[in-house]
Amino acid sequence: MIEKANIVVIGTGGTIAGQGKAASNTSAYMCSVLGIDDILTTIPHASLPVNLRAEQLLQTGSENFTNEHLLAIGKRVSTLLAQDDIDGVVIAHGTDTIEETAYFLHLTLKSRKPVVVVGSMRPPSAMSSDAPLNLYDAIAVAAHPSSIGMGTLVVANDEIHTARDVVKSNSFKIEAFRSPYGPLGYVIDGRPRYYRHPARAHTLATPWSAGTLGSLPAVDIVYAYGALEPATVNAIAARAQGLIFAGTGNGSVAAHLIEPLRNAVRRGVHVVRASRTGNGIVVQNGAQPDEAYSWLAVDDQVPSKARILLMLALTQSRDLQVLQTVFERY
Ligand code: ASP
Repeated sequence: MIEKANIVVIGTGGTIAGQGKAASNTSAYMCSVLGIDDILTTIPHASLPVNLRAEQLLQTGSENFTNEHLLAIGKRVSTLLAQDDIDGVVIAHGTDTIEETAYFLHLTLKSRKPVVVVGSMRPPSAMSSDAPLNLYDAIAVAAHPSSIGMGTLVVANDEIHTARDVVKSNSFKIEAFRSPYGPLGYVIDGRPRYYRHPARAHTLATPWSAGTLGSLPAVDIVYAYGALEPATVNAIAARAQGLIFAGTGNGSVAAHLIEPLRNAVRRGVHVVRASRTGNGIVVQNGAQPDEAYSWLAVDDQVPSKARILLMLALTQSRDLQVLQTVFERY
């Protein structure tokens, strides 16, 4: 007899919990209306070797998620993973900021048990909704022994992505999730197939624990364009402890913004030079003399996830060398 995995499915809202007036409403619908129990009735989970338990933690679109929401999810998942009778957790989540929550969990959960974050681009009420299959696949991945030790995963559209790399890269298509180096594997007929491992440190190999984190420091993102005014940078830097500068191209900084950013550093703000391109590496001391200006370089992380990493890093250290190492290690 196959032993069944005990999986908890947490509902937080999003399109996967959405409902439209008609089956033709693939884009116009209400988000975050179905409870997780209702969503689970749409999938044939009896065919999977799992015992399921559902709980509703939140019921809101992920565009509303603050740092407090991240901490609440992290703390609840930590508590569940610490229980001997739980083998894995699935979080049904809005897709807008799924990459941030998943990366936060990837860096702060102290467990090898599988954690899968899943969303959908079409609500369960729409024609050809991706909600039931994505959820079914997520449960199958969380229940499978090959997912142990992989960190937090995002499952969508038959693919298994590492939380470190995945980004939402399309506003409406079902093929919305992309990892720059490709997915870790696929799910077919309820069975995950992996072809690679996450290369960077996560979960047990990080210094951060969602269970004990008190609060997260304010880190903001500035999106660069040629006409960006110093006053805008100054206003954002005034409230932040860290600033991700999503520069043009390879993290270029316009000549008139160099002093405002250097002034932010003089006031104690940690500035990370990143790229708004959504792909590629920003090399330290490449387009700008980062070390001379006491700026950090993001390596390959996108601004939304660099914000998560810098918040966590700032809970541990303010030392520039330590902070730069963080961007190269996680
Ligand atoms: N706005 C929704 C959310 O992120 C979109 C979705 O779930 O696809 O919660």
